Amino acid sequence: MSAQLIRGLLLALLSALVALPVGYFFAEWAGWSLFCAGLCWQMLFHFRNFARLERWSKAPVVDGSLEGEGSWDGIFGRLYRHEKDLREQIARRDEEIGMLIAAGQALTDGVVLLDQNNHIVYSNTTAETQLGLAIRTDRGQPIVNLLRRPEFVAYLQEADFSRPLTLRSDRSGDRVLSIYLIRYAGNRRLMQIKDVTQTDLLDRMRRDFVANVSHELRTPLTVLAGFLETLQEIEVDHDERQRYLAMMSEQSKRMENIVQDLLTLSSIESAPPPENDIVDMANLIDKLRRDAEGLSAGRHTIVVESDGRGDLRGSEQELVSAFGNLVANAVRYTPSGGTVRLSWYTNAQGGEFAVQDTGIGIDPKHIPRLTERFYRVDRGRSRDAGGTGLGLAIVKHSLNRHQALLDIKSKPGLGSRFAARFPANRIAGV
Ligand code: ADP
Repeated sequence: MSAQLIRGLLLALLSALVALPVGYFFAEWAGWSLFCAGLCWQMLFHFRNFARLERWSKAPVVDGSLEGEGSWDGIFGRLYRHEKDLREQIARRDEEIGMLIAAGQALTDGVVLLDQNNHIVYSNTTAETQLGLAIRTDRGQPIVNLLRRPEFVAYLQEADFSRPLTLRSDRSGDRVLSIYLIRYAGNRRLMQIKDVTQTDLLDRMRRDFVANVSHELRTPLTVLAGFLETLQEIEVDHDERQRYLAMMSEQSKRMENIVQDLLTLSSIESAPPPENDIVDMANLIDKLRRDAEGLSAGRHTIVVESDGRGDLRGSEQELVSAFGNLVANAVRYTPSGGTVRLSWYTNAQGGEFAVQDTGIGIDPKHIPRLTERFYRVDRGRSRDAGGTGLGLAIVKHSLNRHQALLDIKSKPGLGSRFAARFPANRIAGV
């Protein structure tokens, strides 16, 4: 029997014990009245505490305002502690859920949780951006209502998720997304969305590069093979033979130049950061001037401008290669009688090496693509001038490795200016 019940019975018995002598010695009605009054007092006491409990249970607060009287105090105390523990547990659980959601938001991959019927339960902000969802309004919606691409719908229906699905994003056309579907908690699904645009681009660049190299080498190789066949099959006189041999040598030189430029490019790409040797700019510019005069063979005026101050810190070999390409291009794309001007100046912000010519110039639409491998404005002209299409790619890479920027200004028919701008920490001796 519970303590409360025993207590109630004892109090009733106490009332009876007090009421009995009164009824016996005084008057019966007085005894009954006293007994009833005792019971009523008990009931009142319990009703009052009961009312308190009811009030509190409608809006339970854990501020200590729940106080009971007598035996109710123990009950209220236990209830209060229980409510407090429950609240603490909920708060801990909320915190854990909050952390999980924050972790989901911090993921660089998109995540969408779907229920058994492929309705959206949750998505992080990355997925919202990738798929154009808005979780506030889209929660509970079937995913196929929002991602309607037929290949995605088929993938979801097929339910074979051993391979990811690659989608080109509808929203920002050049984004490529890789979607993985993972089963969890029975037949629920977790969508993991990776942005593979960069990898896709690199893949495409690699394929284009291989195709370009093959194409560039195949042309001179075909010419060479043609001449060889002719020489093997047909009797030709001495002069004709010499002419063929000269053309064959020209083609093999062209292949050699391409291979040499490819090797330079790959060695720059895979090399560790350039050394910090001091490159004597006066010497370097003098060498470049001599090279320019050699290439020009008297067809151009070569001018050098410099206040003779400051040298460069970096790899001499890479800088010679970069500047040499700019000078060779200036001579190559400037008709006879033109001027090629080399300049080197430094100030507090850094240094600038520039090559300016009065040549054919470049249409502005080509300028952003000039440093791409094998990009040429005029393929035939470049080839005739002995170009490989790799010169400016080498320039860009070498300059990048020296934290320098390539600035290109050009006007068709008037000439071009290619400037390499180096930051102050690359300049020595000023
Ligand atoms: P290429 O070996 O064909 O010269 P580059 O990468 O050095 O290759 O240059 C890419 C293209 O940029 C060239 O084919 C040419 O069309 C253009 N170009 C480069 N330098 C100049 C210049 N100084 N004047 C005009 N066009 C230039």
